[in-house]
Amino acid sequence: MPAVESKDSAEYGETVRGLFWFRNDLRLHDHPLLAEAASECDELLLLYIFDPRSDEDGTCGFPRRSERRKSFTIQGVEALRASISLRGGELTTQIGLPEEIIPRLMSELKIETLYASREIGTEEEMVVQRILQNTPTIRFKTEFSGSLIHPDEFPFSLENTPEVFTTFRKSVESALRINPPIGEPSFRSSIASKSEMPAIPEVSVDKRAVLQFEGGEAAALSRLNTYFFEGDHLRSYKETRNGLLGADFSSKLSPWLAQGSLSPRLIYSEIKRYEGERIANESTYWLFFELLWREFFRCIALKHGARLFLGLRKPGEPARFDHALFAGWCRGETGMPFIDANIRELNATGYMSNRGRQNVASFLVHDLGLPWSSGAFYFESQLLDYDVASNWGNWTYVAGVGNDPRRDRYFNILKQSARYDPEGAYIKTWCPEAAHLFPPELFNPSLYISRNP
Ligand code: FAD
Repeated sequence: MPAVESKDSAEYGETVRGLFWFRNDLRLHDHPLLAEAASECDELLLLYIFDPRSDEDGTCGFPRRSERRKSFTIQGVEALRASISLRGGELTTQIGLPEEIIPRLMSELKIETLYASREIGTEEEMVVQRILQNTPTIRFKTEFSGSLIHPDEFPFSLENTPEVFTTFRKSVESALRINPPIGEPSFRSSIASKSEMPAIPEVSVDKRAVLQFEGGEAAALSRLNTYFFEGDHLRSYKETRNGLLGADFSSKLSPWLAQGSLSPRLIYSEIKRYEGERIANESTYWLFFELLWREFFRCIALKHGARLFLGLRKPGEPARFDHALFAGWCRGETGMPFIDANIRELNATGYMSNRGRQNVASFLVHDLGLPWSSGAFYFESQLLDYDVASNWGNWTYVAGVGNDPRRDRYFNILKQSARYDPEGAYIKTWCPEAAHLFPPELFNPSLYISRNP
């Protein structure tokens, strides 16, 4: 029908159309780039792409993403779809390669501008470069959306990021500028294309999990409120943060931060609100301090790019890779109860405490003598909160090939078990075969091994 065709053409001429590609930024709140797209475009295609490469096998032979994290991501996308639809918009979801899907959609729908958050990882950035090669004439707008502090607002340039955390922190705190979070955008009109979704993998639910994590913005905001205000746990965070059991020894916000369904600036503004309404103490400062660690590793990852995956200092590499030893570590069958308990928790739930992560990493590198990167790949596969900068930054740190000014840091696992799990309650939760043992026997690997041949 010619009349309709000419009307459409006229509309294309007048209407500003954009494509907003959601990546690890699955939220509507505090999203300046999304707000910019919504205000600039008369019609916006809101798109999420499930890239099958995320589920391929990685370097060490296990999948790059566990079924559990895949399920958490799908929940996050479904929650985003629901929020957008409540605001009268529509989220298009497709399965395939972004460098093929985005150029095709932009050409078919005559879209001129692509908006996408800037990711920290080098692989994610390479995908963007391929899109731009395949669509050389488009306008491209990008911005970091997962940072507490905008990279332009550090008192140093990214290339000059201090290599030591304390120097970084003092410098940042001396000129602290954190922009307040912004509200949700309203979409004038959204356009949509055919949608497809991967099947949600069936994942087991373990009653021992610290929390039943559910992906998406609503669950993230609810956890933030529960931890800070309903439960009033923030006031004692510094004392409890090295805990191992239960939902509230730490914030458990990391999985939502990693999928971008929670803005770190919103967390910061909620810390300030809590300090105003309840109490400002060492604990309220300490949560901010930990967010600065996250920020530090983001800057380090941007500064060093792909070198992060090789280690920032020359490692003394182990002479050989012992597959059986590594497989035992991955299964939580090393014979060292505290290590096994932590790895089993990770395998069953996708979460492990910070104390546990430091111990199992140190044990893999310094006691088993395995390459640190094998552990980092395993964490990448299993963690619900996998984040390229935090994971690889922390692994290089513990292995002595990263940003730790002390190169000889070593965790004595027996002392750590006795200090952080004095009654053995944590070990017994995850290693039922140790139920009949009591400290100090419970921590002793030789006894444990002899009773578990
Ligand atoms: P909380 O104690 O409540 O801390 C609040 C927030 O601060 C966290 O959500 C996180 O965003 C940030 N934070 C806290 N500690 C660190 C830290 N050491 N480095 C960077 N940020 C921190 N964290 C991830 O988010 N993703 C990872 O892939 C990851 N891999 C790690 C690997 C190793 C070997 C180690 C030692 C640590 C790793 N961490 C990682 C950091 C830390 O263990 C987790 O952020 C924390 O345990 C998450 O639980 P929480 O949200 O309750 O933390």
